[in-house]
Formats: sequence, structure tokens, C-alpha cells
Amino acid sequence: MIDSKAYAAFAPDKPLKPHTIRRRDPRPNDILIEIAYCGICHSDIHTARGDWGPTAYPCVPGHEIVGTVVAVGRKVERFKVGDLAGVGCLVDSCGKCRSCKSDEEQFCEKHIAFTYNSTEMDGTTPTQGGYASHIVVKEDYALKIKKGAPLERVAPLLCAGITTYSPLRRYNVGKGSKVGVVGLGGLGHMAVKLAASMGAEVTVFSTSPGKQRDAKKLGARHFVVSTKPAALEAVAGTFDLIIDTVSAKHDFTPYLNALRNDSTMVLVGAAAEPSEILAFSLIMGRKRLAGSLIGGIRETQEMLDYCLKKKVFCDIELIPASRINEAYERTIRGDVKYRFVIDSKTL
Ligand code: NAP
Ligand code: ZN
Ligand code: ZN
Repeated sequence: MIDSKAYAAFAPDKPLKPHTIRRRDPRPNDILIEIAYCGICHSDIHTARGDWGPTAYPCVPGHEIVGTVVAVGRKVERFKVGDLAGVGCLVDSCGKCRSCKSDEEQFCEKHIAFTYNSTEMDGTTPTQGGYASHIVVKEDYALKIKKGAPLERVAPLLCAGITTYSPLRRYNVGKGSKVGVVGLGGLGHMAVKLAASMGAEVTVFSTSPGKQRDAKKLGARHFVVSTKPAALEAVAGTFDLIIDTVSAKHDFTPYLNALRNDSTMVLVGAAAEPSEILAFSLIMGRKRLAGSLIGGIRETQEMLDYCLKKKVFCDIELIPASRINEAYERTIRGDVKYRFVIDSKTL
């Protein structure tokens, strides 16, 4: 077993604190990664605080992981010591079901081994995430990262990047598409950058008027303050796709109204409480309300290669581990530009 320094949540209402976890010795198909950086996703906060249901404490969050391979099992083929590697939101799946066979391991029908607050395929061994110095993962669930990219700005692509890339591709966003992005946080700022890089005309819907300048710099053409009903009314019927990244309960109706006929609003934000919608919001204009969960390993690799080629990276604030709790509070307040990333050397 390998001792790994970490930061863990011990209770929903207590700050995270330093902790030591034990990683398994690499099996024949495993790689051992020394983590360099790990992003702070709002899902980490939902989980650490038990928003989505009971969390298994102590819980080490973190699923935007990048680092260097420091050991490989004897059957490993794709990685060697010294290579860069990434780990996203899942670390294993059955590999045999319909979803796994179609490269959508995030929907594995048998068991999805999420990176933390989950279990390995045995159904009992807890998984622990990337607020840690090391992680052991099967090579098939690790991503290749070419050298030369700013690694701390690559880390959040492993969740914020793939979660927004996947629906943009699925709904065929391209030159001239009119895309709305609701909420300008970690996911939102990547949705803006990625949609703009694909040629879309992007509008940000935000509750924070102070983010307007940033939105334009990130690649948005328009900015709508979503707390102003008249501003929402003015864009009714104009969007081909809306990606909603909001982390808290809110009304979907103004955004459904903003869609063109036969267009789709995709929820990626995962508020803990249900929202009500009126059937007429969908019936009128034959609109669709959909969801999307991260992406499979193949698509995550495709996204990383795309971002490195196009130089689409995250805008981040690098912090030492001692500031994780402060970063949580600031993220909840929407005061994040636009992703906190932990410098793992400081654990
Ligand atoms: P984040 O950085 O905190 O960004 C969320 C943004 O939503 C905020 O910056 C804010 O933007 C807006 N917002 C927050 N509270 C709001 C409220 N009460 N009403 C309206 N807008 C509000 O979070 P994130 O890391 O991007 O994650 C966003 C959500 O996606 C979380 O729920 C997370 O769990 C979920 N998620 C889902 C997936 C998936 O696979 N589906 C993957 C990762 C994360 P403005 O200031 O611009 O209004
Ligand atoms: Zn995430
Ligand atoms: Zn499966």
C-alpha cells in the first residue's frame, strides 16, 4: 500500500482538513500517478457537504486530476514512467455492458466507479479523489496529456471541459450556432470558450453583472443579466442550444422561452432540489429539456486533444491546499475566476 497525503471532508458542516489515505499497490494494469494539480469542481462541494444524499466520510474529493506517472504495472501498455496522465470523474466500469461497449462508461449499467464517494467494482472498497499526492488507476481510465501544455490550466478540463464539450458536440454546435450558457462559473466559462472555439455565437446568462467584461474576453458575444425579466424576454425564441450550468435551484422557464422551436436546453448543473416546469414551456415550439453527464473516456481524450491543439485552457486561480475551505466559500458565492486549482505540492 502507498501512503498518500490528502485533504478530506469528515462531516457535512465541518471544514476539510489534512488526512492520509492508502492507495493500493499498482496491479498489472494500473498506473501510479504523482498528482501535480487538482481542480475544485462544485460537485466536490455538493458531495463534501452531503447535498446530494449521504456521503461516505472521510471523503477526499477531486476529479480534475493531472500529474506524472511514477510507476506502472507489468501489463501496462499506454503509459511509461515520466508520462503525464489525467484522471477525471470515473476510475472504472464493467467494460462489457451496452454503455461501456459504446464508449459511454459514465452510464455503465453494472456499476460506475466514480473517482470519489463511490466504490471500486467490488462494491465495497471506497474510492478517494484527487485532493491527494498520489492516485492509482487502471490505465484504461487514465487520459494521455501531451507535454508542453500549462498543466494547471489543463486539470479542470477533466470535468468542466468534458461536461461542456460533450453536449456541444452531441447537438452539433458549429459555425453560426446560437448558444446560450447559463451561469458563468467553472463549467460555464469552459462552455463559452469551447462553443466560441467551434464557431458559435455565444450569449452568457448570469446573475452577476460584474462578469460582463470577462464573458466577452472568454469569447461571448452577448451578456444577459438573468435577474432582469425584460432582458430575458428580449431574447425569446432565439437560441439553438442552451447549456445550463447553475449549481442551485432556479427557474428553467425563461431559458425554455429563449429557445427556438425544436431546440434543446441541456442541464449539466445539478441542483439538489427539484424545479417545476409548466408543460406549455415545452409544448409550445416542441422544445426539449435534456441532461448530460460528463463524457466517456474516448470522448474525454478527444476533448483533451482538441483543447491542447486549439489552446483552449481553463482560467484558474492556483491555491495551496490550506485555502481549500476558503475556495469552497468563494465558489458558492460565485466569486471564482473561473476555477480554483490546488497545487498538490502544498498538501
Ligand atoms: P460554479 O463554478 O460554482 O458555477 C456555477 C455558477 O452558477 C455560478 O458561478 C453562478 O454564475 C451560477 N449560480 C450559482 N448559484 C446560482 C443561483 N442560486 N441562481 C442562479 N445562478 C446561480 O460550479 P461548477 O463547478 O461550474 O458546477 C456547476 C454545476 O454543475 C454544479 O451543480 C455541479 O455539481 C454540476 N456538475 C455537473 C456535471 C455533469 O456531468 N452534469 C459535471 C460537473 C459539475 P453567475 O454568477 O454567472 O450567475
Ligand atoms: Zn466535476
Ligand atoms: Zn458497463
